[in-house]
Amino acid sequence: MLLRKVLLRGASASRLLISNKSPPASLLPLASGCTRFFSSSSQSEGPNDGFVAGQEGGDEQPPATITVDRSGLYHPPDHSHEPTTESELVKHLKGIIKFRGGPISVAEYMEEVLTNPKFGFYINRDVFGAEGDFITSPEVSQMFGEMIGVWVMCLWEQMGQPKKVNLVELGPGRGTLMADLLRGTAKFKSFTDSMHIHMVECSPVLQKLQHQNLKCEKVGNADENGEKSSVTSITGSPVTWYSSLEQVPSGSPTIILAHEFYDALPIHQFQRSSRGWSEKMVDVGEDSKLRFVLSPQPTPATLYLMKRCKWATEKEVESLKQIEICPKAIDLTHTIAQRISSDGGGALIIDYGLNGVISDSLQAIRKHKFVSILDDPGSADLSAYVDFPSLKHTAEEASGIPAFCYSRVKLVISEGEAPFWEGPDELAPVGMGTRYLAMAIVNKKQGAPVPFQ
Ligand code: SAH
Repeated sequence: MLLRKVLLRGASASRLLISNKSPPASLLPLASGCTRFFSSSSQSEGPNDGFVAGQEGGDEQPPATITVDRSGLYHPPDHSHEPTTESELVKHLKGIIKFRGGPISVAEYMEEVLTNPKFGFYINRDVFGAEGDFITSPEVSQMFGEMIGVWVMCLWEQMGQPKKVNLVELGPGRGTLMADLLRGTAKFKSFTDSMHIHMVECSPVLQKLQHQNLKCEKVGNADENGEKSSVTSITGSPVTWYSSLEQVPSGSPTIILAHEFYDALPIHQFQRSSRGWSEKMVDVGEDSKLRFVLSPQPTPATLYLMKRCKWATEKEVESLKQIEICPKAIDLTHTIAQRISSDGGGALIIDYGLNGVISDSLQAIRKHKFVSILDDPGSADLSAYVDFPSLKHTAEEASGIPAFCYSRVKLVISEGEAPFWEGPDELAPVGMGTRYLAMAIVNKKQGAPVPFQ
């Protein structure tokens, strides 16, 4: 029966056959209604439906025959090879939704849109700068990377000038921040000699660009994968690339930088409904377009929602009609805090965010303009404000002893909400605005880092 239904649904349903992943628990209640995928068929469900089998029997019976009623099978239209305007990513997203038999979370949508290994926004191109989709502080001025370099040197001093430090950057974009940091500190030999650079980047195109911008050279013998190690000719420090922090070797003091990385991590959105908090999901509508729906049942992310609400005051939560949570940011901060706790060092997280619960901040930006979140996914950046208090609570809970010092500063302070100013240009606030925040997590033994004292 399953095979027949798969045939009826044609090409996209064949995903069912090549993957045996079961739908997540959250979607089971939806899947049991299994509306679009399984039960919407108008075909009868009888045991012989579509198949007429003859009887097996003795010598006197006619040989068994099987006839197949093909009338219900999928017939591709004659011009099925005509190109469609639907992007590969949209087809892929719809395929996931069909395969699940129900909608996907906003977080899963965001993750696919940004980092799908084939079609993701970050994966195949350079999205930065005036020609790209958005611009970031390191791309505006070299002073940004140089100032971060001063911060890293101060922390290294506080750490007692260890001989070997893992300097990790999460989501380095074009590699500009790290290049400026190294250029700015290149004269301090004992500092640069101790640095082992680790770049955590999911995009192969950006990894290449970072390699170029750090003026890396390949040295030594090839490893078992035929790869030679890289050394930046700016300072002579070794540079290695990874796709996640977990892959970066532990056991040495570690300094972690994350500039505009956390805002790209996938968020879940919850909306207040008559049933309480319901998760907002992405589905395919009758018109075959992507649309938002609310989950009728609790979803696994509800556990993180409950955790987040415990960190907030009742009054703060009561006033909200929508809440965003980012389990990936919580899990990542947990990993960072544990690593700093055991290996020493610190982390500097700079991003757009709030010092409170985030309500509704997810936005799409294409070519420096806001667009709709579901519009042509993969062609626009998706980002959400970073929930700094939840990172703070996670770091403190994860650290045990020694605990961490935490603080928050406004970097380039101005009134208003620049750069997300949508009013007239002449009234736009100057500077980066009040939403551009920084947080440090450091091993308590080292004391509070500058300028957080
Ligand atoms: N820090 C840079 C770039 C910020 S954009 C700057 O300030 O200019 C986000 C960066 O994170 C990009 O390099 C993107 O490819 C990378 N990225 C996004 N999600 C990622 C993930 N899940 N894992 C690794 N890298 C990721």
